Amino acid sequence: MTRKSYGPKTFLANNKKLRYAVVGLGHLAQVAVLPAFANTRNSELTAIVSGDETKLKKLGKKYKLEHTFRYGEYDSALKEVDAVYIVLPNHLHHEYTVRAAAAGVHVICEKPMADNEKECKAMIEAAAKNNVKLMIAYRLHFEESNLEAIQKAQSGKLGELRFFEGTFSEQAAAGNVRLTESVARGGGPVFDMGVYCINAARYLFRAEPTSVTAFSASGGDKRFTKVDEMTSAILRFPGERLANVNCSFGATEVSRYSIVGTNGTLTAEPAYNYGFPLKQKITIGTKTRSKTFRKTDQFAAQIMYFSDCVQRNREPEPSGWEGLADVRVVTAIYESARTGKRVELGSFPERPRPGMSQKISRPAHRKPSLIKAEAPTE
Ligand code: NDP
Repeated sequence: MTRKSYGPKTFLANNKKLRYAVVGLGHLAQVAVLPAFANTRNSELTAIVSGDETKLKKLGKKYKLEHTFRYGEYDSALKEVDAVYIVLPNHLHHEYTVRAAAAGVHVICEKPMADNEKECKAMIEAAAKNNVKLMIAYRLHFEESNLEAIQKAQSGKLGELRFFEGTFSEQAAAGNVRLTESVARGGGPVFDMGVYCINAARYLFRAEPTSVTAFSASGGDKRFTKVDEMTSAILRFPGERLANVNCSFGATEVSRYSIVGTNGTLTAEPAYNYGFPLKQKITIGTKTRSKTFRKTDQFAAQIMYFSDCVQRNREPEPSGWEGLADVRVVTAIYESARTGKRVELGSFPERPRPGMSQKISRPAHRKPSLIKAEAPTE
């Protein structure tokens, strides 16, 4: 049965659950995105899009879906839904977002937004022109420990904020698309992991960096022929503040940031992950307090938020501008690492930033079994 398609303008009046297609059925889609819909009140999984027949068949059955599509049928998929959640490799985010927007379909697109600033701007323009909402999937913008860190940093408890240190590393699995696509096509650790540290520095300082200096290094492992093994960057922020960002595909897992002020330090570790509890430690003078935040379904939270934005005709935060703000820093980091020179960033429009009012907690679910999908780590 073909269901009526509600366009972006008419949806508001219907106030029904937003119908989604998930595009790309890799590791993240299967482990976190597909199961999240059952954990929302205002969104339903209606269709899946994949290049793999077995995944379509098995996941279509598991989630009791009426509609399954191959990539060649993407235009038909867009007729059946109000929104898409794009979980494709980075170099495909632009194409699949622009096509959805042109069909009047709202878009959640995974981070990083795209391979370069030009593509990000085209995605923002496509959404605006077609009157659809576009959100980049920064799930930590709805997650309690990160929102509390922002609140603490802004409260003055740490004194004047002076520097940020963020590290995100893992052992990337050989053959993963993060290693096989070049940096020009969104591969490499800065696009994949550095983005979390850059984003955290920006939301904790509540500012945009003005210049960047970076170094990349590779220790000769065969995995790192197309992309760097690791990159470290220093971002200069207004107010004579610095952020040091480190990311690696060739080291043990570290997921951490510290924001350091004139009176105290807040350290989050693990800071960026989903699927297990996040932790925080605040030291002011000689007193240290630790806090563990319970594991939640961060993907259900962001899907609920986005559907609510569509239903209320509100611009999501994180919008496409938030994705662009990070991609321009990633691009500058790789330019600096390549040229050995400092890269000036220029000004960037001030946009809404995440805050505690965005907190949404949904209960965690069990890890689902996977069909032809591999974790990105060794
Ligand atoms: P995977 O490599 O596991 O999955 C990507 C899927 O995309 C593939 O399984 C495949 O699905 C589809 N695909 C279509 N074309 C290609 C192609 N040319 N090469 C490879 N795959 C292709 O990646 P992840 O699921 O780990 O990551 C997907 C996206 O999600 C990335 O943008 C990543 O940055 C982001 N991500 C975000 C996280 C977060 O916490 N927000 C965490 C992890 C990833 P099919 O077989 O169905 O066609």
